[in-house]
Amino acid sequence: MAKPADTRTAGRKPVAKATRSAAETEKIRAALAARRDELRAEYDQTLSEITELQRDRLTDSAGDDQADTGTKTFEREQEISLANSIKERITQVERALERLDEGGYGWCERCGNPIPVERLAAFPSATLCVTCKQLEERR
Ligand SMILES: [Zn+2]
Repeated sequence: MAKPADTRTAGRKPVAKATRSAAETEKIRAALAARRDELRAEYDQTLSEITELQRDRLTDSAGDDQADTGTKTFEREQEISLANSIKERITQVERALERLDEGGYGWCERCGNPIPVERLAAFPSATLCVTCKQLEERR
């Protein structure tokens, strides 16, 4: 049986203008992975809260008036939208990790400088360094 040719690495151009050390890349990876785990825990917790709210709604609804039912539905919808936004953030972090592997993550889109690890950990979707971000906001 013939081995399939490895086309994954062929034709991939490095995007980064500057270089970041392997140690720095590892630090970013660790920060992103920690963030992802944190978000996953948060997501699981939100899901169990939704399940609980749902259970409450089903078991206590007999004595509820319409206002109570409305409040519970509202709370549940809030939890669901929270869960969705957490899930979106998890996806962002996962994409960031993929881009990091490709060498295209963590560089300021404007000045090409590396974005500090702390900033990336806090805002995995950041595409600008703090200085450029401030300039952008001032416009
Ligand atoms: Zn910049």
